[in-house]
Amino acid sequence: MKKRIVILGGGESGVGAALLCKQQGYDVFLSDGGILKDSYRNELIENNIEFEDGLHTEEKILNADEILKSPGISNTNKLVQEIRRRSIPIISEMELAYRHKGESKIIGITGSNGKTTTTSLIYHICKSGGLNCALVGNIGVSITKQIALDPKPLYVVEISSFQLDDIISFRPDVAILTNITEDHLDRYDHNFEKYIAAKFNIVKNQTEQDFFIYNADDPVTVKYLNQYPFHSKPLPISMQNEQSKGAFINNGLMKLKHGEGLSMSIYDFALKGKHNQYNTMAAAVASSLVGIRKDRIRDAVSSFESLAHRMEKVATVRGIDFINDSKATNVNSTWFALESMEKPVTIILGGVDKGNDYELLKDMVQEKVKTIVCMGIDNAKIHAAFGGVVKNIVDAVSAEEAVRKAYSLSEKGDVVLLSPACASFDLFKNYEDRGDQFKKAVKEL
Ligand code: ADP
Repeated sequence: MKKRIVILGGGESGVGAALLCKQQGYDVFLSDGGILKDSYRNELIENNIEFEDGLHTEEKILNADEILKSPGISNTNKLVQEIRRRSIPIISEMELAYRHKGESKIIGITGSNGKTTTTSLIYHICKSGGLNCALVGNIGVSITKQIALDPKPLYVVEISSFQLDDIISFRPDVAILTNITEDHLDRYDHNFEKYIAAKFNIVKNQTEQDFFIYNADDPVTVKYLNQYPFHSKPLPISMQNEQSKGAFINNGLMKLKHGEGLSMSIYDFALKGKHNQYNTMAAAVASSLVGIRKDRIRDAVSSFESLAHRMEKVATVRGIDFINDSKATNVNSTWFALESMEKPVTIILGGVDKGNDYELLKDMVQEKVKTIVCMGIDNAKIHAAFGGVVKNIVDAVSAEEAVRKAYSLSEKGDVVLLSPACASFDLFKNYEDRGDQFKKAVKEL
């Protein structure tokens, strides 16, 4: 009899998984408690995949041999708890992808911040280096859909910690852990250790042939490194200490210690800011591991175009620069955004706070920020945290109002930075919508 696999959640990864399961001859059923997007619904219909949306029919789900849970569905979900109670194996999309990827290689990137940037940069380097590869995961097309429709010898995959929750044998050839800071703690019972454990899942099945790139300057990563035993070759990146493996930056020069080696000035990096220097180091090491020659790495690192909503320069209006860093949805990314600022800052902060500790931002705000515009429904925490640090703190309930107020409170030579340290869904659909509305408001000034 065919193995019955039930997929919970019909977003990009769920539908991708359904396509791959169908192709691989499983008996597939997809169930989504919400309403499917038309494009996904059509894909399922076209491929003769049985599905339901708007409800979960237990009889059709609990008879599964295996359940594939989309990363968006929390473990506190009642149905998920019932599945666990019955000991039906739950896997993630990453696990399914690993099972059916064949001989292809995987570079997997996880971490609290910098995943999309690092993943995109690696893809850019590998592509310009002539490799036949795909950019997949959280960032666009799901890895399972790519495997089903257009398999490649190399997948560069962005992996959220939720996708690492239910893996069994998933093993990337190259794993990257960019850093670990408090984010999404709501999904881990506000337990930082659980969140850390999920991140370290990326190395748990690696063998001696594999590689693990990590940030040796990140205190949390370093602290937990020995608690999660791994067998792959560690390749640290650092700006604080010279490394004999991996890469480091010293006096403005990046030294790649792997393969042919490479010395390159950080002033030639396309991506600016300290956080991006870490991302660039990680990407350079990873691409050298899959055989990209040093000159190709150098060219690609200096020609990469930065991504929307991540320190994206929008415009300069009467001498005031506007930067869209809407993707900064936690305190750590906002810290790095501020760190890279060289002019007095009016910062637009706020939104839905996932348990932020603003203490971590205090010194940086004191040093760089003259005005805070709070953009959210509930701004009390921001007022409480920075009331004594910054003189001007005002509120806004739309991007347009925030931009107008930021503009009127800034002067020539200042920069207005949207780097909210919070999620966006109190006022916006998502961070892209927030960034787009910000850009629109700037253009209308
Ligand atoms: P992710 O995909 O992990 O959310 P992104 O690459 O989209 O990360 O970057 C999100 C935000 O995090 C950026 O706007 C930037 O300000 C910040 N950021 C990027 N890389 C790093 C890093 N290595 N360390 C800390 N913050 C970073």
